Amino acid sequence: MSVIKLNEIYEVKIEDINHKGQGVAKIEGFTVFIDGGLPGDKCKVKLVNIKKNYGVGEIVSIIEPSTKRVIPKCKISYACGGCQIQGLDYQEQLKIKTNKVKNDIKKIGHLEDVLIHDTLGMDNPYRYRNKAQFPVGRRNKKIAIGFYKRGSHEIVDTNSCIIQHEVNDKVIKLIKAYMKTYNIKPYDEKTGTGLIRHILTKTAFKTGDVMVVIITNGEKLPYKDKLIEILKSNITNLKSVIQNINTKKTNVILGDKTNVLFGTKKIIDYIGDLKFNISAKSFFQVNPVQTEVLYNKALEYAKLEGNEIVFDLYCGIGTISLFLAQKAKKVYGIEVVKEAIVDAMENARINGIENVEFYEGTAEEIFPKLYNHGIKADVVVVDPPRKGCDKKVLDTIVKMSPKRVVYVSCNPSTLARDLKYLDEKGYKTIEIQPVDMFPHTMHIETVVLIEKK
Ligand code: SAH
Repeated sequence: MSVIKLNEIYEVKIEDINHKGQGVAKIEGFTVFIDGGLPGDKCKVKLVNIKKNYGVGEIVSIIEPSTKRVIPKCKISYACGGCQIQGLDYQEQLKIKTNKVKNDIKKIGHLEDVLIHDTLGMDNPYRYRNKAQFPVGRRNKKIAIGFYKRGSHEIVDTNSCIIQHEVNDKVIKLIKAYMKTYNIKPYDEKTGTGLIRHILTKTAFKTGDVMVVIITNGEKLPYKDKLIEILKSNITNLKSVIQNINTKKTNVILGDKTNVLFGTKKIIDYIGDLKFNISAKSFFQVNPVQTEVLYNKALEYAKLEGNEIVFDLYCGIGTISLFLAQKAKKVYGIEVVKEAIVDAMENARINGIENVEFYEGTAEEIFPKLYNHGIKADVVVVDPPRKGCDKKVLDTIVKMSPKRVVYVSCNPSTLARDLKYLDEKGYKTIEIQPVDMFPHTMHIETVVLIEKK
């Protein structure tokens, strides 16, 4: 029985960080998670919650800060839920990510002789995102556009977000001014009244195209011509202004109906030489610079010579499939979201790529079916969501017996579990390359080369 007490203050040394970016410390052997605590910090902590396997602590004071702490560039980085670890030196962030992968491979995967490379970071880990979603509301009676406060629905007003493309700072400023000048009401989540709910922006890094989406609680948008004029005259490369209507009381940002107010419905961006159409709703990787690093690594690990049959499971809008298709005989992509498959087919078409076939459905259903129809692959690429691959997918890989598997993962823990399973069935993990797709957050992306023993 633990002797620790609720609301008591303890002195702790933070040893680690969890996947949510909370510091991890032990109080009398009991694990405690601490918001805003970083590895190396010595601090006084108040225990505010005790659960069966862990507690939650709040920092009362920092006695001795970690030597790896830096002053965050963003003033609201603590209040905002976005960047959990901006207060940590960037090289240290990368080390922590590499170590997390190493730990999971050892403790969950029980794998040895795996070459785990250092995380590939960004030369400039700021201004890297191409998509921003800002909630609009009121704070202290004033219009607020910004981000939700950590773990809440209160809006932290901001004029600038340093992980977003610079154009966003301008968009926020212009829309605030438009709302003030023409007395346009922000949405109120509690009452369901007011008009503007969210601002969504997408910026194509290669072409410079900008899309601004105004999400409204109703059809009518007063002084819409003025709004378009303001945006057009201040934003070079503005290609698309869209109104999306969402009148539901929901956390889902986009509604079903969209009106194009200015320009085109889609903007265009490139990853490598491939062209992609991006609409308000379509999924697109948010860090275009690192996406190219990640996909090039996946392509390198696939070691294609031109005659291979390849599967791309969990293919999204077909980005990896199209990358692979340029070097393979044929690629089959499988994805569960219907709209993504429609985009994938369109992306193949606009790039003139004909040796790909996309299937809508779950990987666990479609992949075994195609195998039973006699389709065999030389290389299988998987890029599953956080929960990892379904067992049926892994079993089908083993039966199909490809030479190589390339695993792109956004969760080292489920990755390690799946690699262990594959290892037991005759597939050896050769090397792992973590790529930092989301600097200042605890998200860890890896690409893995697995070969038949
Ligand atoms: N490879 C893509 C997307 C990866 S994200 C890219 O790089 O852009 C993971 C994708 O898996 C998402 O598009 C999600 O919709 C899809 N997905 C989730 N569960 C799935 C399942 N059971 N079967 C097939 N696809 C699934």
